[in-house]
Amino acid sequence: MRLFPRSLVVLALLAATPTQAFAWGATGHRIIGRLAVRALPPEIPAFLRAPAAAVEVGELSREPDRWKDAGKTHDSDRDPGHFLDLDDTGRVLGGPELKALPITRAEYETALRAAGTDSWKAGYLPYSIVDGWQQLAKDFAYLRVDLAAARTTRIATHRAWFVADAARRRGLILRDLGTLSHYVGDGSQPLHVSIHFNGWGEYPNPEGFTQDKVHAPFEGAFVRNNITEAAVRSRMTPLEICMKAPEACTAEYLSAANAAAIPFYRRPAGLWAPILAAALSPPNGWPPAPPNCATSSPWPGGPALGSRSDGHR
Ligand SMILES: [Zn+2]
Repeated sequence: MRLFPRSLVVLALLAATPTQAFAWGATGHRIIGRLAVRALPPEIPAFLRAPAAAVEVGELSREPDRWKDAGKTHDSDRDPGHFLDLDDTGRVLGGPELKALPITRAEYETALRAAGTDSWKAGYLPYSIVDGWQQLAKDFAYLRVDLAAARTTRIATHRAWFVADAARRRGLILRDLGTLSHYVGDGSQPLHVSIHFNGWGEYPNPEGFTQDKVHAPFEGAFVRNNITEAAVRSRMTPLEICMKAPEACTAEYLSAANAAAIPFYRRPAGLWAPILAAALSPPNGWPPAPPNCATSSPWPGGPALGSRSDGHR
C-alpha cells in the first residue's frame, strides 16, 4: 500500500520536471497543482479524480506563499523551507551532501553548524518535501481505516463518526496535497536550489553570467505573462515512478533542478532585459494581480500581501 502515496509524490514531481521549468509564482504553482492531480493514476480514490479536486489542489498549492508575512515567528521558521542553497559540488553551503542528507532536521542543523552555517541561511526544502510525503501517507492511512471501519462496524454511532472522519480526511488530503505540490514546485525552480539564486553572485564567473536580480521577475512576471497550462501540459514527461525512499527520490529530483541553473544563466543576456523591464514597468494591458496577490493590504492599515515576489529571498 505504500506505493500509493509515493505515486502521488512522483507524479507531482514529474509535473514540475526541471527541463520544463516554467512554473512558479501564483500562476505557476496553480498550474503545477492542477496538472499533477490530473496526471494521477486510476487507482487513486474517486474524489481525487473529480475535476474539482484538481482545481482545488491548484489553489491550495499557492498557500505556502500566501502564509508569508504572517509574523516574525511564523516567517522565520517557514521561509527557509522553500529553498536549498546547493553549491557547485552538490553540498549544502559546503556542509552535508544533498544525496546523503541526515534524516531529521535536527541532524541536518548539526551538520550545517559544523560547516559554519545553519538552515535559516541554507534552507531546508528537501525536508519540506519529505515531510509533505509522510503527512500524505498518514492521511491516506486514516482514510482507509475510516472507510473500512464505516463498512464493518455494527454500531450506528461509530459508523456515523467514521463516515464524518472520512469526509474530514478528504479535505485534509486536498490541503496536504496542495502543500506538497507547492514545495515540489519550488524544487523545480533552479534558482530555488542553487547558491546562484538571484544573479550568479560572488563566485568564480568565467562565463560572465548576469548579476541582475533575475529570480523574482523570472518566476513571477515572466511566468504569469508567458506560460500557459496547455504549454506546460504539452511538455510534461510520461509518468515514471520513483521506487526508492522518498528522501532519495527527493535528492535526485532537486539535484536535477540544480543542474538546470547553469543552462538557465547561459541564456543570451538579451533575454533578461525584457523580463526585468516587464517586472519593473508593467506595460499597458498588464493583467491585474489575481485575487490574493494584491500588492496592497486587503484591509485598512493591514500588512501588504504579495509585496515581494513568490520567490523567497
Ligand atoms: Zn515556495
